[in-house]
Amino acid sequence: MSDKLSFEFLTRLNEKYKIFSQLINEEEFLKAEGRYHFHFSAKDNLCTIDFQSRAGSRILDGYTPPFDATAVRRLRISGGLLIGKTNMDEFGFGTFCTNSAYGVPRNPFDPDRSCGGSSGGAAATVALLDGHIALAVSTGGSISCPASFCGVIGITPTYGRVSRYGLIDYSNSLDKIGLICRSATDLRTYLPLISGPDSLDPTSCSQPILDLSSSRIKRIGIPKEAMEGISGEVEAAFRKAIEITEEQLSIKVEEVSMSSLRFALPAYYVLATSEASTNLARYCGMRFGIVKDDVNAHFNTFFSEVRSKFFGKEAKRRILLGTYCRRIGFRDRYYLKALSVRQIVKEEYLRIFQDFDLVVMPTMPFIAPRFSDIQKMKPLDMYKADFLTVPPNLVGMPHISLPCGYYHGIPIGFQLVAPHWEERRLLHFAECWESVFEYQFPEVKL
Ligand code: GLN
Repeated sequence: MSDKLSFEFLTRLNEKYKIFSQLINEEEFLKAEGRYHFHFSAKDNLCTIDFQSRAGSRILDGYTPPFDATAVRRLRISGGLLIGKTNMDEFGFGTFCTNSAYGVPRNPFDPDRSCGGSSGGAAATVALLDGHIALAVSTGGSISCPASFCGVIGITPTYGRVSRYGLIDYSNSLDKIGLICRSATDLRTYLPLISGPDSLDPTSCSQPILDLSSSRIKRIGIPKEAMEGISGEVEAAFRKAIEITEEQLSIKVEEVSMSSLRFALPAYYVLATSEASTNLARYCGMRFGIVKDDVNAHFNTFFSEVRSKFFGKEAKRRILLGTYCRRIGFRDRYYLKALSVRQIVKEEYLRIFQDFDLVVMPTMPFIAPRFSDIQKMKPLDMYKADFLTVPPNLVGMPHISLPCGYYHGIPIGFQLVAPHWEERRLLHFAECWESVFEYQFPEVKL
């Protein structure tokens, strides 16, 4: 049983940090008191029978699904109490959680800074609540990024390891459900609960058993291309963490070359927006969330009215980008080329894994930015911030972000990548890392 929570505390926490887009109601909370083993949250794009599931979007306002996502169901039957839906960038489109229709979550280490995105509410909740487990989703880094900005652990399992049934899709070939938590012990406990085949998601069906027995880590590679464009404070913390890894954990860390790394980001944005633009087609004011009664208008007028009004700016940008990439005559130039890049990046990882057990790099190129600085960023600057989290996501390899240092009290993370299905290497490293590095959590003042 984790720390005792009170409803009043949760409400006040949410008022200050805007971590939930919807919180459990008091009656349900009191009914469950003393009857659950742990508390957890689900990102707002995971379907839940007793909460709205709006994926951070106004277009899904009022949508309460008639079923639970498999990952949510599995945690509930293991004794978990779902205390809320966490705030996120609309449909997962973002890196700073500033694209949500339901409030912008605040970083627990400094409320003037971003929590990271798109699972910002999830990471902040874990930083604020001891013993909390957050179900999060990553398409191109939405677990690693907020975990690193909020000083907590974020694991993104191999593509297909956790059933995507009940996930509101962003980009089906990239979406992965994972966990954000505070310790390797939590990972060991909760990752097996959500993993494993599920007949409701065919991509989860042919997977090797999740084996979390110990595994030896002898050599880790750092792609030298990953260090280009990293801020001074992140680089210093990262180098220090590597020194600790070598000296105190007796693991060899060597530089490797990964020349395809810089192509991963453009390939990702082509594939992700292409898939997103088709996925969002279903939100047209007839079936989910916002439903308009006046069905007499011409279908084009009807759909564009609803979509213009209820999609946010970034969602519209992605629909345009994705539709452009998929146009006849452009498909070979963008979409098919991006698929080839994906293959090249995968082969390059596999080549590195012939000699190394893991690949490591900083998670984000800078510490959690202030909202005032984010306002000055252009969309392309925001996309570029994902250049380290995108590569493992593009190829579906499991990865973990762990806190590795602090700059004036603001957390910095590093990210480790393992070959497909080798989550145990990540867990093993996380356990070793915890024995030599102490995580700090923010003081919660309400
Ligand atoms: N920032 C990336 C994007 O906007 C990744 C987000 C995610 O993983 N959902 O696509």
